[in-house]
Amino acid sequence: MKIGIPRGLLYYEFEFMWKEFFKELDIEYIISPDTDKDIYQAGVNKAIHESCLPLKVFLGHVEYLIGKCDYILIPRIGTFGFYDRMCTRYQSTIDLVYNTFRDDNIKILPFNIDYSEGEKQIKSFVKMGKFLGKRRGQSILAYRKARILNDYIVSEKEAKMEEKLNSDNIKILLVGHKYNTLDSFSGSIIMNYLKKMGVEIILATDMDSKKADFYAKELTDTMPWTLNRELLGSILKYKSKIDGIILISSFNCGPDSMANEMILRKFKDIPILNLVIDGQEGVGGIETRLESFLDIILFKKEGGLFG
Ligand code: SF4
Repeated sequence: MKIGIPRGLLYYEFEFMWKEFFKELDIEYIISPDTDKDIYQAGVNKAIHESCLPLKVFLGHVEYLIGKCDYILIPRIGTFGFYDRMCTRYQSTIDLVYNTFRDDNIKILPFNIDYSEGEKQIKSFVKMGKFLGKRRGQSILAYRKARILNDYIVSEKEAKMEEKLNSDNIKILLVGHKYNTLDSFSGSIIMNYLKKMGVEIILATDMDSKKADFYAKELTDTMPWTLNRELLGSILKYKSKIDGIILISSFNCGPDSMANEMILRKFKDIPILNLVIDGQEGVGGIETRLESFLDIILFKKEGGLFG
């Protein structure tokens, strides 16, 4: 049996845990490749026009996997905590995929987390194991190993983040969902350009999510979307150690447009570049905006008009 994992949306939240879990249970898996023009275009062809870019990209990855595996793993995340909310697109991904590919006889391996319904993370893994014919004990053991590995990776990332914050280079906090910043189609233009310019890139998502959520409460305890709150928490924690912030969001994203508007209004004393990516923009346009932004930061660092 082979499981297909689409490299999009919440893949970036669970990738290490899923891989370790399947490895421990001796289940073969295939991950769709980095997003390229073909995958993007396949997703665009399948999605309704109003979809956000990451959902289109995700559907492109699902299409890539059809015929290459027995089941395609599709996550559905309702809530991560009892009072939290997630974007409705994470909540409806399974239904969306079923409907979009109804003529392809697609077989889905569901992964469902919803704390408000008592579906905690461990239960979701155990259910997935059961679906694949594994005993409860085996799945719990595999889950624990996956969790340990994931916690280790998170702490390593945080340690590297702290190292970068001590660098003398320009330090930019990249604030965006992992499926935007880490995707080879959406985020790579920005990452590659900043790296080329010798900028220290600090990913807001490298901060431990629980800590980030705690820091966010300094500014809001009413923002409903868990992942946006975590991004906000990272800004609050690191704002005094960075030279600028780049907000990366996708065209048609409701939660990001509201959360980022709040960030732009609340953090007036730090340069912020708000980039909305739509998959159509050429490299040139983005690079020009990044270049101007870095000029502003350098100017400010060197003391501005009075330096
Ligand atoms: S948070 Fe925004 S980008 Fe992410 S799935 Fe929801 S609408 Fe799309």
